[in-house]
Amino acid sequence: GKGAAMVTAVAYRLATQHAERQRILDALRLSREQLMEVKIRMGNEMNRGLAKESHDQAAVKMLPTYVRSTPDGTERGDFLALDLGGTNFRVLLVRVRSGKKRSVEMHNKIYTIPQEAIQGTGEELFDHIVHCIADFLEYMGMKGASLPLGFTFSFPCHQNRLDQGILLKWTKGFKATGCEGEDVVTLLKDAIHRREFDLDVVAVVNDTVGTMMTCGYEDPLCEVGLIVGTGTNACYMEEMQNVELVDGDEGRMCVNMEWGAFGDHGELDDFCTDFDRAVDDRSTNPGKQRYEKMISGMYLGEIVRNVLLEFTAKGLLFRGKLSERLKTRGIFETKFLSQIESDRLALRQVRSILQHLGLTSSTCDDSILVKEVCSVVARRAAQLCGAGLAAVVDKIRQNRNLDKLKITVGVDGTLYKLHPHFSSIMHETVRDLSPLCEVTFLQSEDGSGKGAALITAVACRIRDAGQH
Ligand code: BGC
Ligand code: MG
Repeated sequence: GKGAAMVTAVAYRLATQHAERQRILDALRLSREQLMEVKIRMGNEMNRGLAKESHDQAAVKMLPTYVRSTPDGTERGDFLALDLGGTNFRVLLVRVRSGKKRSVEMHNKIYTIPQEAIQGTGEELFDHIVHCIADFLEYMGMKGASLPLGFTFSFPCHQNRLDQGILLKWTKGFKATGCEGEDVVTLLKDAIHRREFDLDVVAVVNDTVGTMMTCGYEDPLCEVGLIVGTGTNACYMEEMQNVELVDGDEGRMCVNMEWGAFGDHGELDDFCTDFDRAVDDRSTNPGKQRYEKMISGMYLGEIVRNVLLEFTAKGLLFRGKLSERLKTRGIFETKFLSQIESDRLALRQVRSILQHLGLTSSTCDDSILVKEVCSVVARRAAQLCGAGLAAVVDKIRQNRNLDKLKITVGVDGTLYKLHPHFSSIMHETVRDLSPLCEVTFLQSEDGSGKGAALITAVACRIRDAGQH
């Protein structure tokens, strides 16, 4: 009768809605073949970045870092370190002890960088940094001290020496003027001189390199550094012979891959969705850092928001009502992605998070769907990251002509550390795509700042040895 017909109609509508949702989410799901393809393309791009003749055209820059040796335990002294480009800006005092009491002791203070400094002029940014250094020295009771300084500067830099870093381009929302194309050591020193004091800037270090060094201090098998936080990137020890941008064929050098730029020349076009394109279009650097924008914490929430916008517009979510809140950029922070996917969370808690975000009209079904969107987006990020890392470890294995490689990856970053599933999915992907490598992951605590101090310590040890 009539009732049965209505039930059929409702069932039919539910089934089509379900199919529609899955069709949208399927665009964000990658098959094993696709991930294998990502690994292969990353491997090709690595070779193109390393080779002199293709370097200029390559998306992945594979930048030489002039870091060749890892700490040998004989370095010692007090060092300052700056850490700019992650979630926080920090100034650190690092005390390195050698010999039997070999250890690293740290004091640090976190400073916020005001939005005006990030998006104002370079002078304002570096004046602010130096203001923080001066405050820190005073706080530590070390005013006037002139310690060797290591500068963790987590942006792509071209280096001709350890103590130079020419900023190629800002990433992660930074856009202070007058810095691109300039040596950040000069910018820092100029700001220091404006305040009429002096510091001995010994090294510019990417956060990946600092993380690798810190983990390498504990585990000599650590020859890869990985960051998955606000941004993403990796570094590893490459054979000098393959580092064509630097003369010499002996030994190894750490290469800062700047893998976030993978995809900038179309390498990821066939995996990108409209959601990725929307996030890219509205970023401070459209067309740039395409791989990073599919993986790191600064962007995942925005991908999720764009998917939810689409669902709502199609009447599949929030009863089809587009709230002002949902139209607001940046409402989903990484923290939220981690919370919502927490296994211990009951659905009503998901719902209360949504309410907290001002998405009040949500039903139980809405909560299920939002959680599913978060999980699909985070899974894709972890798999893409794992595919890239699989290319790195396999390259190291092939460099050394090994049937089997045992290696440790030092890792840092909020997304990797705080998300309930990101790390396990990433590990599983690496294992699956590079079965000949036995990879151990070592989380670093405050790795980037400590690593800059260790690199500075090594450089000072070598420099001092040369003077005696
Ligand atoms: C930067 C890298 C950095 C990474 C992680 C990227 O945006 O280009 O230099 O290592 O973020 O902080
Ligand atoms: Mg060479």
